Amino acid sequence: MTRVVSLNPATNTERALEIDETSPQDVAVLCARASSIAAQYGAWPLSRRAEMLRTMAAELEADAASLVEVAMEETSLPRARLEGELRRTAYQLRFFADVVVEGSFLQASIDHATNSPMGPLADLRRMKTPLGPVAVFGSSNFPFAFSVPGGDTVSALAAGCPVVIKAHPAHPATSQATFDALERGAKIAGAPEGVLGLVFGFDSGVALVDDPSIRAVGFTGSGPVGKALWARANARPTPIPFFGELGAANPLVVTAAAAAERAETIGAGVAGSMTLGVGQFCTKPGIVLVPNGEHGDALVEALVGALRELHEMTMLAPGIARHFRDGATSIAESAGTRRLVGGDAEVGSQARAQLFEVSAITFVEPSSRPLREECFGPLAVVVRYDDNEQIRQALDIIDPSLTFSVFAAADDPDATWLIALGASKAGRVTFNEYPTGVGVSWSMQHGGPWPSTTSPATTSVGASGIERWLRPITFQGIPMDLLPEALKDDNPLGIPQRIDGNYPG
Ligand code: NAP
Repeated sequence: MTRVVSLNPATNTERALEIDETSPQDVAVLCARASSIAAQYGAWPLSRRAEMLRTMAAELEADAASLVEVAMEETSLPRARLEGELRRTAYQLRFFADVVVEGSFLQASIDHATNSPMGPLADLRRMKTPLGPVAVFGSSNFPFAFSVPGGDTVSALAAGCPVVIKAHPAHPATSQATFDALERGAKIAGAPEGVLGLVFGFDSGVALVDDPSIRAVGFTGSGPVGKALWARANARPTPIPFFGELGAANPLVVTAAAAAERAETIGAGVAGSMTLGVGQFCTKPGIVLVPNGEHGDALVEALVGALRELHEMTMLAPGIARHFRDGATSIAESAGTRRLVGGDAEVGSQARAQLFEVSAITFVEPSSRPLREECFGPLAVVVRYDDNEQIRQALDIIDPSLTFSVFAAADDPDATWLIALGASKAGRVTFNEYPTGVGVSWSMQHGGPWPSTTSPATTSVGASGIERWLRPITFQGIPMDLLPEALKDDNPLGIPQRIDGNYPG
């Protein structure tokens, strides 16, 4: 048995936990247990499911002080940030409780039998039903909001699916402690044992994706790992949906008019956004397009000035810091690239903000590929352009992303086409707002076209995230008393029903 180790990235000290890595055999037991209760849990009344999520939120809040302490030790993230993240995570649980009770996620649709121009049509009733056990891979950078108690887990439970979670190695003690709080909530709500499971260790993640009881995977992490596991999920004898929320370079365009209007403000704002959470945000703006000329120079000067004021920062784990340094080195070695900030030799989990500059002409060269990749950490590449054609060419060669940001002036002639271009390449377009920070709401979209996600038709944040864990089913000619409640004519659940094509009222 291999003991799970918790590492403090600030002091580089390790602590062995009273937890063993989960063997493939134990993964199979947990998945079989989840499968054995999936139908029972999936059939729970919506109100009971919602109550369980609310109870879990209360249990997380009851442990808030100790959860924040343990997360601080493992991630080096500051107290205020972690307290805020935990509040958001509890809010997310309650938000999904509301989503469940509201019921539109079931997409109930009733077509009464009729004589259509095609001939007689049977009574057809369609709704969404839970997929079954879901595997969740938590991410390193949000130990609460995107990890064990995070959006994937909560939306899957809300959909009526049991969840088996792979703990992230960068915060195993936090993973166990948050899991304990969720499990208490499940117990108080009377959930069957098996509605939640937790596994540790590299091999356990692979075994989870392969396990025949698992019906879908939610993954938040890097592009290379996400794509490898996506391929694995598709290579199973029974392939399953794999929802990989990966990384992106997230372009931010400053128009010529915006630079002329407020160069210093935008420069300082970009510095704050690209270094928020030590740049360890999947929504970090990684490529910043700035016009050539005096206003662009002033913007870059403000950006450089703000970054130079920052001290050395501690990243989440030495491995993540190593990747960051490797990424920065590839960019520095790319022909025609100028380093504006950074360059000190960091050690362990320490990192310094880094800023590079390149011309739009060099940026589109095939050899400039490293400049267009996500570098997870406090780093951005400034691309200097002469005209709109160079902006178009630069944006054209960047992979689709999670976010796309436009900074424009009032009545800016470039705002319209840039917003349209952003909408064709990203899941969320922000206007005069920085992309870091993803709110939980009905209208949030977090996920963009491949390769920023493996499944561009869905989101991992917000109410629509629940759709990932459901599949549609049509009931034809089923007597009223045998239909699910969501599809009965008298609508006992009081949920939105589309009836013969329309929503009544
Ligand atoms: P990562 O290296 O991809 O790790 C993610 C998970 O996969 C970990 O549990 C890791 O655990 C496991 N893993 C790694 N290699 C594996 C393999 N070959 N087979 C099976 N499992 C494997 O990601 P990270 O460094 O934790 O997170 C940083 C990335 O996440 C960034 O790219 C960031 O942009 C992205 N991110 C995306 C979002 C989003 O919503 N789109 C949110 C946050 C972060 P083991 O080490 O135990 O293998």
